[in-house]
Amino acid sequence: MSDALFPVPAEWAEHALIDSATYLEKYQRSIDDAAGFWRDEAQRIDWIEPFHTVKDTSFDEADFHIRWFEGGKLNITANALDRHLETRGDQVAIIWEPDNPSETVRKITYRELHRDVCRFANVLKSRGVKKGDRVTIYLPMVPEAAISMLACARIGAVHSVVFAGFSPDALAGRIEDCQSNIVITADEGLRGGKPIPLKANVDAACDKVAVETVIMLRRTGADVQIVSGRDVDWTEVMDGASSDCPAELMDAEDPLFILYTSGSTGKPKGVLHTTGGYAVWTSMTHQYVFDYKPNADGKMPVYWCAADVGWVTGHSYVVYAPLINGATQVMFEGVPNFPDHSRFWEVIDKHQVEIFYAAPTALRALMREGDEWVTKTSRKSLRLLGSVGEPINPEAWDWYHRVVGDRRCPIVDTWWQTETGGAMITPLPGATALKPGSASKPMFGVKPEIVDNDGNIQAGATDGPLVITDSWPGQMRTVYGDHDRFFQTYFNTFPGMYFTGDGCKRDEDGYYWITGRIDDVINVSGHRMGTAEVESALVAHDSVSEAAVVGMPHDIKGQGIYAYVTTNADVEDTEDLRAELVKWVRKEIGPIATPDAIQFAPGLPKTRSGKIMRRILRKIAENDVSNLGDTSTLADPSVVDDLLANRKK
Ligand code: ATP
Ligand code: MG
Repeated sequence: MSDALFPVPAEWAEHALIDSATYLEKYQRSIDDAAGFWRDEAQRIDWIEPFHTVKDTSFDEADFHIRWFEGGKLNITANALDRHLETRGDQVAIIWEPDNPSETVRKITYRELHRDVCRFANVLKSRGVKKGDRVTIYLPMVPEAAISMLACARIGAVHSVVFAGFSPDALAGRIEDCQSNIVITADEGLRGGKPIPLKANVDAACDKVAVETVIMLRRTGADVQIVSGRDVDWTEVMDGASSDCPAELMDAEDPLFILYTSGSTGKPKGVLHTTGGYAVWTSMTHQYVFDYKPNADGKMPVYWCAADVGWVTGHSYVVYAPLINGATQVMFEGVPNFPDHSRFWEVIDKHQVEIFYAAPTALRALMREGDEWVTKTSRKSLRLLGSVGEPINPEAWDWYHRVVGDRRCPIVDTWWQTETGGAMITPLPGATALKPGSASKPMFGVKPEIVDNDGNIQAGATDGPLVITDSWPGQMRTVYGDHDRFFQTYFNTFPGMYFTGDGCKRDEDGYYWITGRIDDVINVSGHRMGTAEVESALVAHDSVSEAAVVGMPHDIKGQGIYAYVTTNADVEDTEDLRAELVKWVRKEIGPIATPDAIQFAPGLPKTRSGKIMRRILRKIAENDVSNLGDTSTLADPSVVDDLLANRKK
């Protein structure tokens, strides 16, 4: 834990939507008078018919149910599109930045987006898609991904977006789990100049599961196989489609989408979100966390969330919330290091981005290449930075703040999960003094607690499993097709509470510090330690860019510490360095944290959303390598071979 404290800059305290006094007042009301608080906040959404009950929820097994805004009718696309037409029809909604910067940027206004969503909704209807049907979307980061998702929501179909880079097996498993018989894809995706054979992957998946219709967008123009009777061309079907498609009347609790979690902890779960609560929750959190409002000149600030639509951040903070809030946003097809390591910062300059939201894994990868890639760009437009996906270690936080943000931009470190729909614990830029590495304070309506192993709520400064004791509107409603798994996974460990699966510390100031997943806690000679802490210490060393720590069996200590370390581009992996790192961790944390083995690893096994799959690292450390489990969701399965070959005995 770092001791640094960054007060709220004066201009933020003065001009932000929420200052520190307002935060306290609103937070208190959201807890004391939840119904009143949420009735008011729900007015940000246009309801076609008003709700009669704000909140009706219980986490108790005997009476387990979660319902928000009952009786309310709405359509989320009417909120994201139709209601903007009069006031901002010609405002750019999406600035699409292609993988290759020499390709043409596309700018799509709200009017154009509305038209295309309506047309594609009619295409889906003409293919027999009805309210409640599941539609699988397997598209790269192109505007058509957002168009497809919104077209589903327009007609009440439930989308299941599968990251365009998952293997045919992973895709087939997800198609099968939600029984969808239509897939929307592209001929190929492009990432870092490399084509990804999306259509071929769909074809391979379709060998395993029956699909009636495949709609294919031509992104690269590659020569692909066309199965007649099944495959149709996006442009051809769009050409003939009417742009008149009334929005389906949806109940607040009607399903909006299914999204499979990244799978870093086992068999993916089909997380199901519904309509009304999700619309209120995502748009509210987006507005407050990013202080999203018109600038002095009346224009909306350019916002860029670098997440892929294939994971929840892309759903909530690329597609739904920004559009509901009338944003102008960048949608980026590419990767941070193509054509070179300046790409993020060049895109920021090119489109004058004011708010930038990314994952620590990308930041650490860029940090290791040196500061010049950043400092040679201007970044003068930037005002606010965000982080999501895993704990941001103080080292990376400092770099983001000092080098990227020129010490000018607050960093909102947002803790949340696929299951929570939107940001749960996060600073607000005008309200919260920042502590590097801490997600800080709860969002309105969120009641976090830290419990002991028996589920007793702990007061004051403490650490342990993180639970949420009451429902919030954006909470997932079930695991698709397996309601019992939903209850067992999240509400059974600590009865009456939502168990996050994450460990957490709370300090004397009431700040929350996520320490990583509970199953990543290691027990060395009876001392419980979060792996994030050891990783943070390793990354704080000048030569290290990334580290992953797991437990390994140890005769004397019970568990020992096994560290996988990726060094900076210009560093040589020597025995001397290994010895130095062991000493370094002893000094940083204490002798109890002395690593028992350090393996240099040029790459770590990461999911597509950049999370380290620790269960694989655990198995390698335990030398239990015969069955590594499902590796189909890894970004680069080949790193596993290297890890196996260089295992420390
Ligand atoms: P799976 O549940 O399938 O194992 P996953 O948990 O990686 O996958 P997500 O829902 O995308 O899938 O990630 C949520 C998790 O990411 C959180 O539970 C937490 O461990 C971590 N996380 C996200 N944001 C932060 C943050 N700002 N600080 C610390 N941890 C974070
Ligand atoms: Mg998870």
